Amino acid sequence: MNFCSTCGSSDIHLAVPEGDTFERHVCSSCAAVFYSNPKMIVGCLVTDEAGRVLLCKRAIEPRYGLWNLPCGFLENGETVEQGALRETWEEALVKVTTPRLHCIYNIPKVDQVYIIYAAQLLHRSEGTTTESLEVEFFHRQDIPWKDIAFTSTTFALEKHFEFLGKEAVPVHVGTFHNFAAR
Ligand SMILES: [Zn+2]
Repeated sequence: MNFCSTCGSSDIHLAVPEGDTFERHVCSSCAAVFYSNPKMIVGCLVTDEAGRVLLCKRAIEPRYGLWNLPCGFLENGETVEQGALRETWEEALVKVTTPRLHCIYNIPKVDQVYIIYAAQLLHRSEGTTTESLEVEFFHRQDIPWKDIAFTSTTFALEKHFEFLGKEAVPVHVGTFHNFAAR
């Protein structure tokens, strides 16, 4: 950061504040401490009545043109479920029902935590948006595995199919050190 948002000073330094264990940006003029914490990304793995899975072809960087689950940054004032449903609507024009927590994964390298719900398509309304070049439902065998945007997306898809039809389905937890697809 270049300027203190409290007093406007450009004299910012890194220090471990008293009682803290991490380095923070601290203003030398007014002693304000600025905390930076991981961002949360929320979204849905949506299935339709035929068991096909919804994917969106990214219209934005990074990984432009590759396929991803509809997801995005959680906004202030939202629950993770509300955010997941909102992102699904914003990216794919899809409304869903019976959302169930599907997976949580950490990407420490980029300071992100993903929370993905599994949900059923409510009615057929999908369409492209400014964030998605294409929006499509895929049978397992038709999924463009080589053009999936992120390793974490592949994880979410694989876990979905692995536990399909099983009675006890856990919340899948993963950690990824590589941002890109495998
Ligand atoms: Zn200041």
